[in-house]
Amino acid sequence: DRPPRFDRKFVHIGDGDGAPSSVIRVMQWNILAQALGEGLDNFVMCPLEALSWSRRKYLIMEEVLTYRPHIVCMQEVDHYYDTLQPVLAGLGYSSHFCPKPWSPCLGVEGNNGPDGCALFYDESRFELLDSVNIRLSAMRIPTNQVAIVTTLRCRITGKCVCVAVTHLKARSGWEWLRSTQGSDLLWHLQNVVQKQPGAPAADIPLLICGDFNAVPNEEVYRRFATSPFGLDSAYKKLSRDGLTEPEYTTWKIRPTGECCSTLDYIWYTKDTLRVDAVLDMPTEEEIGPNRLPSFSYPSDHLSLVCDFSFKEEEWEGN
Ligand code: NDP
Ligand code: CA
Repeated sequence: DRPPRFDRKFVHIGDGDGAPSSVIRVMQWNILAQALGEGLDNFVMCPLEALSWSRRKYLIMEEVLTYRPHIVCMQEVDHYYDTLQPVLAGLGYSSHFCPKPWSPCLGVEGNNGPDGCALFYDESRFELLDSVNIRLSAMRIPTNQVAIVTTLRCRITGKCVCVAVTHLKARSGWEWLRSTQGSDLLWHLQNVVQKQPGAPAADIPLLICGDFNAVPNEEVYRRFATSPFGLDSAYKKLSRDGLTEPEYTTWKIRPTGECCSTLDYIWYTKDTLRVDAVLDMPTEEEIGPNRLPSFSYPSDHLSLVCDFSFKEEEWEGN
């Protein structure tokens, strides 16, 4: 007796004649911290019952199980040890968690511990080479934002991929901090990518998933779009011209008003990875007049799901 799930479809990109045997499916999702959703967010159009953990945990698991990504990157995870880690481990995922040093969840009565970023990968598909938890800095001063950077080796192709998950500082007025945190993450990625023995740095593909809390015309977005890694944002592929971000990745109503914006991204290395498919976004009608979260969807942020494959090595001089 709840409204139906969003019926989202994969949009296939390109001619589709590449060998799709080794597709890597990646999910980026800010799942909404339980303590924040019930405690601080003030989603005034969302009934409290829809925000209960006893309901939300099933919808979160259902979302992961519907798409079965090989790599799942999450923000605002405050039920890692008691729920997400054990349940997803039972489904074959290994994982890493990095709590925020001063999570705002800790100020909410009855909280379940700090929220943070989590990275899950399908153990049958990937072998772990390395994983580091990073506290992002701004001008050498540690901030309250974190990232996980994990290097995995694909068991099918033997190729490596470096995956990062982050959640940058929220709210307007902090654009400079997001930009500095983004630069710090790129600096860490440079070090991680260079450290891999036997592989030239430029050849390790990067996947960077995050709630950047930044719209596409912010400085931190430009920093990623113009970084020396040659990154592109996968969800642009959904647009007609292939150059435009979606209209929204989050849509909510607070007492201060409605907030409909694009803040979440999956960045990938253009030279070494190809986007084969992108999960489309639910329409305004499907999301409904009370927006998110709702009885049909457990977070104010939508999941982003993409299929990637390794590009074939190009001939010398081509
Ligand atoms: P951020 O500004 O990055 O935001 C933290 C969280 O708040 C994010 O998950 C963000 O969600 C959410 N958020 C964004 N906008 C709003 C809004 N308008 N209303 C409610 N929630 C929102 O915080 P920091 O990590 O820098 O932490 C600092 C904050 O945490 C301060 O407000 C501080 O008072 C509080 N804090 C309190 C503690 C306590 O014990 N009382 C302990 C530690 C921190 P999204 O990314 O989805 O936008
Ligand atoms: Ca939030």
